Amino acid sequence: MTASTLGRNLEILEKYRKYADMAELRADCLDPDERLLIRRFPEQAGMPVILTIRRDIDGGHFVGGEGARISLMARGLAYAEADRRRNFAYLDIEEDLNVSSLEEAARTFGTRIIRSYHNIKGTDADLPAKIRSMRRSGDEIVKVSVMANSTRDVLELLCAGRECEGQEKILISMGHFGTYSRILSEQFGSFLSYCSALSEPDALPAAPGQIEVRELANLYRFRNITGATKVYGVTGYPLKATDSPHFFNTVFELEGTNAVYVPFPADSITDLMEISKELNVEGLSVTVPYKEAIIPFLDFQSDEVRVIGACNTLTLTPQGWLGTNTDARGFSDSLLTFLNKPNFKRQRVTVIGAGGAARSVVFELHRLGAKALILNRTVHKARRLAAPYKFAWGGLDERGIEKMEKYHDIIIQTTSAGMEGINPNDISADPAATYNFCGREEVMDLVYKPKMTAFLKRASNAGCNVQNGYDMLIRQARYQYIQFTGKEFPEHFLSRVQFGEI
Ligand code: NAP
Repeated sequence: MTASTLGRNLEILEKYRKYADMAELRADCLDPDERLLIRRFPEQAGMPVILTIRRDIDGGHFVGGEGARISLMARGLAYAEADRRRNFAYLDIEEDLNVSSLEEAARTFGTRIIRSYHNIKGTDADLPAKIRSMRRSGDEIVKVSVMANSTRDVLELLCAGRECEGQEKILISMGHFGTYSRILSEQFGSFLSYCSALSEPDALPAAPGQIEVRELANLYRFRNITGATKVYGVTGYPLKATDSPHFFNTVFELEGTNAVYVPFPADSITDLMEISKELNVEGLSVTVPYKEAIIPFLDFQSDEVRVIGACNTLTLTPQGWLGTNTDARGFSDSLLTFLNKPNFKRQRVTVIGAGGAARSVVFELHRLGAKALILNRTVHKARRLAAPYKFAWGGLDERGIEKMEKYHDIIIQTTSAGMEGINPNDISADPAATYNFCGREEVMDLVYKPKMTAFLKRASNAGCNVQNGYDMLIRQARYQYIQFTGKEFPEHFLSRVQFGEI
């Protein structure tokens, strides 16, 4: 609860009550006068409340002296009631704050101590020792909240937690890299997870990476996650605009499967694979830019992965990681349905891009009879991709664009240019800006966020039939579901599992 008045915090709490099991009153976010009135908050809140007065050096808003902060904590504990529900259930005390009278008072009144450590800049090297040494008595809950600047940082925290198994603790990797530490609290060995009422304009996120309370409760079904819950997810980098969690979690919920699907943003695929092992991840969707880089981590692979050289689906089997490719069929199913054709025979097609997705596209175009031209910013990649299929190739330059004149029945944009979240400075990027559409081309862009890239908008304005990558995404996700679960996709749920806001 990070609003500036107690009344507003209670209002927010009321609105989100059904999604939360306890509340943390961040008294440092309150107006100074309001801070003096915190004592009655637990009774008014009607659920267990953690009292936290976070210093600015730990990412909070309290800038007064330690004396003032300690007396505020004491004020929160004062006049303890016999009915413990009227007292704060927990008091957050930083590991370097030594006030034994406060600790004694808390214990006497049945208020449990959360002994916390924060590093808002990075992840410390000596975490296992830190976790072990922080707890001063057996009834304390250790909280370690450190900023993850990389996937390695999340791995370090996870492993540190493993070394302190059996101890009540809260482990949080703050920031984008650590989002899943907040969803998979059970797997991280955490006692609780913190979230925010982010949709309220005056509820500040209490820490970087916090998830909106309804999202945690409804999308990830946080309360149902136990050690027996099957864990799936999607990995990529920066992985800021994925709708796959919405798709899979909705299917799992509708069919009553004890499984969760989470985003695993990763700057190192090596570290992510170690994390997957630690968390018992059973299936992974792989997206930009790892569809080729993931291949060395596979224990075995489908024929399509071998030929295409790109893998977007990992399934854990008793023999290890199986790599498959669902982009290929997802793409051709989608484009053929759009064109209302059984195959690509007699079609002359330009493929823009030569990355992981393009590999699947080119494989399917060849399999289904098209003649194609591949154009890529890095020309040698276009040449390498075209060679086994005897397709034409070129750069995304004047000469390459000229070649499109002979390959323009269908134009397929497969680069990440113009994709939300990946080119924050240039969402308007158009990889073939000098190509003039004549209006008769059928145009597909694999990007689906935004719905219309600059490239697709230009094609549409010229009168072309256009389709973005959303339908392909759904189709490949259905194949992924089959791969992950070994079951047919429950088609009767399809209309209810459409991706997020598309
Ligand atoms: P990737 O392996 O990282 O390849 C990226 C491709 O984009 C490369 O060809 C790269 O060219 C090119 N590129 C990046 N920025 C560019 C720019 N500013 N101008 C020109 N070319 C640029 O990524 P991927 O896995 O192939 O994914 C590519 C896109 O397809 C992503 O947006 C992804 O979301 C989308 N996708 C959609 C679906 C779906 O189901 N709809 C499925 C798969 C992929 P260089 O070789 O010169 O770097």
